[in-house]
Formats: sequence, structure tokens, C-alpha cells
Amino acid sequence: MLWSGWGDPARAAELPEPVRRLLGDLLGVRAPDTPAATLGEVRLPGPALPAPVTAELEEVVGAGHVRRDHETRVRHTRGKSTPDLLRLRAGDGSDAPDAVVLPGSHDEVLAVLRICAAHRVAVVPFGGGTSVVGGLAADRRGFAGVVALDVTRLNRLVSVDAESMVAELEPGLRAPQAEELLAGHGFTLGHFPQSFEYATLGGFAAARSSGQASAGYGRFDDMVVGMTVATPRGTLELGRAPKSAAGPDLRQVILGSEGAFGVITSLRLRVRRIPAERLYEGWRFPSFAQGTAALRRLAQDGPVPTVLRLSDETETMVGLARPDELGDVAPDAGCLVVAGYEGEPGEARARRDGAAAVLAGLGGVCLGTDPGESWARGRYSAPYLRDSLLAAGATVETLETAGFWSALPGLYDAVRGSLQGSLGSPLVMCHVSHVYGTGASLYFTVVTAQSADPLGQWEAAKKAANEAIVAAGGTISHHHGVGRDHRDAHAAEIGELGVEILRAIKDRLDPEGVLNPGALVAPAGD
Ligand SMILES: Cc1cc2nc3c(=O)[nH]c(=O)nc-3n(C[C@H](O)[C@H](O)[C@H](O)COP(=O)(O)OP(=O)(O)OC[C@H]3O[C@@H](n4cnc5c(N)ncnc54)[C@H](O)[C@@H]3O)c2cc1C
Repeated sequence: MLWSGWGDPARAAELPEPVRRLLGDLLGVRAPDTPAATLGEVRLPGPALPAPVTAELEEVVGAGHVRRDHETRVRHTRGKSTPDLLRLRAGDGSDAPDAVVLPGSHDEVLAVLRICAAHRVAVVPFGGGTSVVGGLAADRRGFAGVVALDVTRLNRLVSVDAESMVAELEPGLRAPQAEELLAGHGFTLGHFPQSFEYATLGGFAAARSSGQASAGYGRFDDMVVGMTVATPRGTLELGRAPKSAAGPDLRQVILGSEGAFGVITSLRLRVRRIPAERLYEGWRFPSFAQGTAALRRLAQDGPVPTVLRLSDETETMVGLARPDELGDVAPDAGCLVVAGYEGEPGEARARRDGAAAVLAGLGGVCLGTDPGESWARGRYSAPYLRDSLLAAGATVETLETAGFWSALPGLYDAVRGSLQGSLGSPLVMCHVSHVYGTGASLYFTVVTAQSADPLGQWEAAKKAANEAIVAAGGTISHHHGVGRDHRDAHAAEIGELGVEILRAIKDRLDPEGVLNPGALVAPAGD
């Protein structure tokens, strides 16, 4: 993973010439004056971890698994949001942990938590490091130091119960590793977020992730049937049956807790059989409103595709849904729907035929398999473009929300309006990314020329968008989580009593408040 950007450096994406022209002519993007910092130039805080704490940690996990070198600390500094990358590119590593600790078992995680609680050292659980909501930057105030607790040594497929179709996997597995291990048993999770290549199973559960095939396979939190959690107070074992009426479901307390309540050390996940057939195709709708109505009909009455997404006019025109072919700007292209069907031969085809009849009946024009296949090929490419855009002098960032169908048009207008109001004339693109019977998620991509203070510029725009989302009745996050960036808006969403409940849970599981301080809930007194 590139330390200051996304993904495999060998796959860095060149900006096509038409896109460069569009950036210059339409948005006034100019190359930045100062070059990005090199890895060695990143400024880190002096390591603050007291020597006796380091010694105790080394005794538990082994000396080689407590790392304090410059590169490892930089690689565990914050996540992968655009502000995170802008800060690192400016050489700002002020949120770096003092050390990175890599435990190899649940018991080692427990021991690390006990040591850190005893010495008031903050602990940031760290999976793939792909958080885009400020989920990995600990608030140091009042702590003797900060360690990143990197779970990637917990990377085993523990067991497969083929009869129940449940697999136990460790949280440090990156999604492709998990898929490969499960494929050996004929199974898949069906969880394919855009961060698939790097994000981990623990991160998916801790941040309530949702993948691109959620219409068919469900969100990640739907897949979790059980988990083991290490907390400073001991171990939680949750989930012993597919469904239960034995009181409130405590799994739901940990799902979305973003490392603030405990460290997930094992996950029991519902798996599916690897589909024998995959069909992807594109449809064109004359307008976003008509496309949205068609998606709603499918989500409510079926047949439901496995993948279902709709780009608005701007996103379709720019071709963002097909990043590998970006550049063929196509005015009047309408709105692109990508519909994918995965399943048993015959079943996937029958579902496709049923859905096609609905889409055609509601004004859609079938574009054949090319746009669908092209989307499927390029589904993990867009993040690579962000690095090229940042280097070219553009700020590009994404944000997402969800709302009931009746609120969706208002939500769409409110977020677009807020971004346009605060950024002047940015390019704002949107797609419906996940659908449910009752509503859907909207995913926005914004591109604008960098001002002299790109961070301040984006923070102001993001604040305005957050306020617009809250005012328009949307949730502050459908799948990225809360972290620090959404904390205030989340508090507005759940109210004072809601925040008190979260704080009470944290106080009980983590009385010293060492777990990811500042994430999800503000520290007491703030
Ligand atoms: C380019 C890009 C594309 C993305 N696309 C999507 C997408 O399509 N869908 C989507 O849902 N998200 C997406 N994300 C967001 C991100 O990938 C998800 O939030 C993902 O769930 C984070 O997983 P991770 O392993 O990287 O976790 P991290 O970033 O390492 O951690 C995320 C949070 O979970 C906590 N945490 C991590 N592991 C554990 C654990 N074992 N126990 C307890 N807490 C833990 C961390 O402390 C942190 O608060 C994207 C991000 C990027 C940068």
C-alpha cells in the first residue's frame, strides 16, 4: 500500500488527456506549487511511550512485534480519507502512534489492553487502515502515549461449518485473503467494497461496512452471526444461534463500535456458495428521478439483482462508473444503471429476465453487457485516480448518506446544494449505491480545484454537507462510520440520551478510556 495514497504503486493511474483538459477548463485546476513530502520528510511526534511499558508489551507479543521505526509509524498514521492524505502529503505526521504492536492471539490482545489500561496508554485498533472518517487518529490528551494495535497477525480461517454455512475467521484477514481461504471450501462472503483489496474483516465489522453487491449478499453486519471481543475488562463471546429472543442483541453494540468498546479477535460469518453464473449489464434512464423510481420498484417488489446502482447525469457524463475508461465524456448520456446477477445457472438468468422487464417497463433502455462488465472490471480502480487528481492540484473526496425513498430527492438536492454553495463550482457526482425496500444510500464524489488551503477548504465543505444531511433527514453515514469526522453530526442524529448510552457502555467496558479515544464518542468533558 502506498503510504501517502492508495494501493499498489505499480497500478498508479494516469489521468487521460480529456480529463486533464476538463479539470483545467471547467474547474480551473492548476498544478500545486509545492511538491508532496517524501516518506523521510514526514514529521512525527517524538516517541512518548515510557520504556517500562514498551518492555511489558515486548514481553507479551515478542520484541519484533513492537515496532517504533519511522516507516511503520507513518504507515499507521490516520486512514485514507482525502484530508488524511493531504496532511501526510504536507509532511504532517502529528497523529502517528508512538509504537505499533502486533499481537498474535486473543490472549495477547487481552494482555496488551491490560498493560495499556494500567499505564493509561491509548490503543487504536488498526486493521487495513482504510478508514475515511478519522477512525484511526487517537486523541492523545491525558495519555502517556498512543499505540496502534495492528490485528493483521490474526489472519486464520479457524473453521468452516459447511452444514450451517458459517465460517469462523480472524479479523486481520484482508478481504482477498478471506475470499481465497473460503473459496477452498466453495464459499464466498460476497462482500466487495471498493476498499476490498486492503480492508480487513475486523474493520468491516467495526465500521459496519457495505459492499457493492449488498443488494444480493447484504451488508457486512448482516453476515456477522457471532464474535469474540477482547476488552480491558475481559472477553465477550457473542452470538450462539442464528437469531435469538434472549434480550437485546449485544452483537449490535460491537458492530459499528469502531474500536472504542473492544477489539474484535474472531468473527463467525454467514457464507454463501460461490455463484456459478455472473451476469452484469448496463441500462440507460432519461433522468435520475426515473432511474431512482425503477430501482425502488426492484428493491420493493423484486426480482432484486445482486448488484444495483444508478449514476446521476453528471457521474454518467464523466463516466466515473467505468473508471478504466474514464475520459470519454458523453453529454446527454442520461443516467447509467449497472445491474448484476450472481447465482446458480438459470436462477441468475431468470432473475435478470424478470428485472429487465421491470426496468424496460419503467423507461430503461438496455445497453447490453459491455457497460456492466466494464464496471465490474474497474470496480476497484477509482481510488487510484484520486492520487493522480491530488497530484494534479484537484481535491477529490467522497461522502455518503442514506434515507427513506420519500426523503431521497430532498437529500440529494440538499447535499449537492451545500457542496456547490461552499466550494463555488465543483464537479459533484452521485450514485445510488445500496438499495433496500424502504430506502437507499446516496454516494457523492466531489472534485474541485485546490485552494491555497485545501484542508480548510474541504473541512468547510464537509461541515456544510454534514449539516445538510442532518437537516434533510438522512443518516450521517450509511457505511463509512462515525470516527471523529462525523462525531458531532452523529450526536445530533442520536440525541443527548443516545450519546449517554454509548458513553455508559464505553465506561463499563473500558473504564480508563484507553480504547481509540475520541472515536465514536467524544471524551468526557469535551
Ligand atoms: C478507497 C476507499 C474505498 C472505500 N470503499 C468502501 C466501500 O465500498 N464500502 C465501505 O463500507 N467502506 C468503504 N471504505 C471505507 C473503509 O474501507 C471501511 O470503513 C472498512 O470497513 C475499514 O476496514 P479496515 O480494515 O481498513 O479498518 P481500519 O481503517 O483499520 O479501521 C476502521 C475502524 O475500525 C476499528 N477497527 C479495525 N479493526 C478492528 C478490530 N479488529 N476490532 C475493533 N475495532 C477495529 C479501527 O479502530 C477504526 O476505528 C472505503 C475506503 C477507501 C479508502
